[in-house]
Amino acid sequence: MAKKQFKAESKRLLEMMINSIYTQKEIFLRELLSNASDAIDKIYYKALTDDRLVFNKEDYYIKIAVDKSARTLTITDTGIGMTKDELDNNLGVIAKSGSLAFKKEVEAQDGHNIIGQFGVGFYSAFMVADKLVVTSRALGSDEAYRWISAGADGYTIEPAEKETVGTEIVMHIKENSEEEQYDEFLEPYRLKAIVKKYSDFIRYPIKMDMTTQ
Ligand code: ADP
Ligand code: MG
Repeated sequence: MAKKQFKAESKRLLEMMINSIYTQKEIFLRELLSNASDAIDKIYYKALTDDRLVFNKEDYYIKIAVDKSARTLTITDTGIGMTKDELDNNLGVIAKSGSLAFKKEVEAQDGHNIIGQFGVGFYSAFMVADKLVVTSRALGSDEAYRWISAGADGYTIEPAEKETVGTEIVMHIKENSEEEQYDEFLEPYRLKAIVKKYSDFIRYPIKMDMTTQ
C-alpha cells in the first residue's frame, strides 16, 4: 500500500506530539490504557445484547511488556479490535471532540502544562515513540492488519497475522537527546508508577511483563 497522509487538522496535533513540547509525556500511557479499556468495554456491551457472545471477565485484560534492548514498549488488549477500515479511519484523524478542543486551547495559549487536562488520544504516543506499529484483529474477523507510522509523513496498512481478537501497539521509544530523556519509559519501576497513577480509570486487569530486560 502507498503511504497515506494524515488529515490536515490531525497533522498539526501530531507535529506537536512529535516535537513533544509538553512536560507531562507520561500521559501517553493514560491515553493508551484508556483506549484499551474502551475497546474491552465495547466487547462487554456487545455481550450483554448478543447471546452468542459470552463475556468471561478473566479473558479480558491489558498487558504491558517492555524490551529494553529493542527499546520497545508494547501494549496489548483483548478488546474489540479494529478492521482495516477502522485502522485507517480511527488512527488517521483526530477522533474526538476532546482532541479538537485541546488543539484549540494549545493554539490559543502556548501549550505548556495544560495537556494533562485533556484526553489527547492515540497521537500522544508520538511524544515518546518515533515509530508505532499497531496490529489488530476485529471481533468477528479472521483477518488482521498492521498500521505503521513513523510520524508526520504518514502511515501504511498491510495484512498481518494475529491469533486472537484485539490490538497490539508496539512503541519504538525515542533515543535520549541532549534536551530530552526517554529511557525512563523503558524502566519497569517508572512504568509501574505511571500505571498506578492512572489505573483508577481502568476497569480491567493490567498485567505487567517486565522480564525481557
Ligand atoms: P478517543 O479515544 O477519544 O476516541 P483516540 O485518539 O484515543 O480518541 O483513539 C481514536 C480511536 O481509535 C478510538 O475512538 C478507537 O475507535 C480507536 N482505537 C484506539 N485504540 C484502540 C484499541 N486499543 N482498540 C480498539 N480501537 C482503538
Ligand atoms: Mg482515547
